[in-house]
Amino acid sequence: MTQTQSGTGILAGEQRMLIDGELRHTDGGALFDVVHPGNEEVVGQVADGTTADMGRAVGAARRAFDDTDWSRDLDFRYHCLMQLHAALERNKERLRRIVVTEVGCPISVTGSQIEDPIDEVRHWAEHGRDFEYLVDTGIHKAPMGTARRTISYEPVGVVGAITPWNVPFYLNIAETVPALMAGNTVVLKPAQLTPWSGSELGRIIAEETDIPAGVFNVVTSNANEVGAALSADPRVDMITFTGSTATGRAILAAAAPTVKRTMMELGGKSAHIVLDDAKLEKCLPMAAMVACVMSGQACIMASRILLPRSRYDEGIEILKAAMAATAVGDPWDPAMLQGPQISETQRQKVLGLIRSGIDSGARLITGGGVPEALPVGYYTQPTLLADVDPDSQVAQEEIFGPVLTVIPYDTDDQAVAIANNSIYGLSGEVTGVDTERAFCIARRLRTGNVTVNGRSHFGITSPFGGTKQSGLGRRNGAEGFKEYLESKTIGHPA
Ligand code: ADP
Repeated sequence: MTQTQSGTGILAGEQRMLIDGELRHTDGGALFDVVHPGNEEVVGQVADGTTADMGRAVGAARRAFDDTDWSRDLDFRYHCLMQLHAALERNKERLRRIVVTEVGCPISVTGSQIEDPIDEVRHWAEHGRDFEYLVDTGIHKAPMGTARRTISYEPVGVVGAITPWNVPFYLNIAETVPALMAGNTVVLKPAQLTPWSGSELGRIIAEETDIPAGVFNVVTSNANEVGAALSADPRVDMITFTGSTATGRAILAAAAPTVKRTMMELGGKSAHIVLDDAKLEKCLPMAAMVACVMSGQACIMASRILLPRSRYDEGIEILKAAMAATAVGDPWDPAMLQGPQISETQRQKVLGLIRSGIDSGARLITGGGVPEALPVGYYTQPTLLADVDPDSQVAQEEIFGPVLTVIPYDTDDQAVAIANNSIYGLSGEVTGVDTERAFCIARRLRTGNVTVNGRSHFGITSPFGGTKQSGLGRRNGAEGFKEYLESKTIGHPA
C-alpha cells in the first residue's frame, strides 16, 4: 500500500442553490461543511437549504411546467440539452476535481463518474429528439363505432430527484437529464455528503445554458427533512431516487398519499456464481478489483462470491492475492485503485459488518481493518471473508465497502438458491467456460441485470434496475426514457 496524503487537486464547488433561475443562498445564509474523505479536512461549505427553500423550488418547477412552453417545445429542449452537453465538456476537469474532492474516489477511475454522464447528456438529447411521441395503434372495434387509437406520450410533470453520494455527478445527470428531455421540470436534492456535484450542475445550467428559470432547480441541505418535503409535496408528480432501500421505503410512504409515480434504484447484494469450469485466474482477480474500485460503494457490486466446493481453496487463494495487492491510498495519486470510504460513519458500518461476519463463523482471509499506513482519511483494508453463512447478516446486508464474502456450493441448483436468497435483486454475475450453461443460470437469477463471463449488462442503451427490494422501474434504454412519460391513449374517429 502507498501512503501519499497529498490532497493535491482539492477544489471547492459552488455554494449557492439554484431556485427559480436564481443562484442563491438560503435566507439567513446558513451553510454546512463539505469534507474531503481522503484527509478528513473541511474543504468548503454549501448552502444549508430549508424546507422553505424546497417549497420555493417546487413552486418554481410547477409554474415552469404549467405556464411555459418547456413541456411542448421539443426543439428548444434539444437545443438546451446540447448546450448543457457542451458546457459540461468545458467544465469537465473542474467537475472531476470536485467529484474526487467530495467523494474521495481515485482520480484514475473517474471516467465512469465524469466522461460517461457527460456523454449521456448528448445521448438523451438525441434519444428525446428522435422519440416517437405519437403512436398510431390502428383501428379498434368499439361500442360507438370503430375507433382509431393513438398513444400520446407526455411528460409526467414536476419530477423530484433525490440522489446519493457514491456516484453523485453521474446520478444527478442520470436522474434529471432524461426527465428534462422528456419535457418535465425538475427539483434536484443532492446528498449531504456530496452537494457540490449538484450545486455545480445548477451553476452551469444557470450560467451557460438557456434552460429557463424554474425548469431545473437544485436545493442542497444537510437535513433529511428537506428531501422528505420534496417526496411529500402534492405539487410534485414523480420522485426518482437512488439510495438505500430503507430511505426508498420512507420516500414511497411519503409519496403514497398523493400517489406519485416513483422510480427507485435501491440496494443490492449481488451474487457472482463461479461455475466449476470457470477460469478462476481470470475472473476472480477482476471480481476483487471491482470490489475495491469505489471502495465497494457501488450498488451493483457482486459482493457474494459463490465458489464450487471442488475449487474452493484454489479460488480463495486467488482472491486473497488479488485483494491484498490492491493499491489503496490517496485518491489524487493516479496509481491508486481504491480510495477511502465516504465518511467515518460509513467506515464504521463496514467494519461492524465485517466483525458481525467473523462473529457468525466466517473466516477472515485478508484485511478486516484500517490500513496501518493510512491513519488519516476513511480508508478500509480490502477484506475477504470465507465460509460465510448465506443467512448471516454479512451475507444478507449491503456492506458498501471493499469486502467480498465467499460462500461454497455443491450443485448449480444450490448456487442459484443461494444467489436468490436475498431481499435484493439488483444484479448478478455468472462465469463459466460453457457459455450456454452460464446463460441458462443467468436466466434463473431473480435480478434486473446479469453479467455473463464478464460481458457487462450496464450501459446507457440497456434498461437497468432492480427486482424485489432493489427497486421499481428502469433507468437507461428506451424503458428508462419512458419512465418520465405518461402514455395517454386517445380514441378518435378512424
Ligand atoms: P445514506 O444513508 O447512505 O446516506 P440514503 O439512501 O439515506 O443514503 O440517502 C440518499 C439520499 O436520500 C440523500 O440525498 C439523502 O439526503 C436522501 N434522504 C435521506 N432520508 C430521506 C427521506 N426520509 N426522504 C427523502 N430523502 C431522504
